[in-house]
Amino acid sequence: MLFLVICYLYNFWEEFIHLYFHKKSNLFIIKLNLFKHLKEHHRVHHYIYNSNYGIGTTLWDYVLGTKKHAE
Ligand SMILES: [Zn+2]
Repeated sequence: MLFLVICYLYNFWEEFIHLYFHKKSNLFIIKLNLFKHLKEHHRVHHYIYNSNYGIGTTLWDYVLGTKKHAE
């Protein structure tokens, strides 16, 4: 049961943050360094093929070798 709750919360986090990556807003979260870091990570995903699949975290891109930085 705990696993399902964690999956649900993580999915909510990903959908929520992905929405604000692509939407103009004054929501407090866009001022956080974590948000800026994840948004840059995601921005690279949109123009470098096969990279930066993570939305809510960059962890798995480091583990799986798909992490790329902007050139
Ligand atoms: Zn996107």
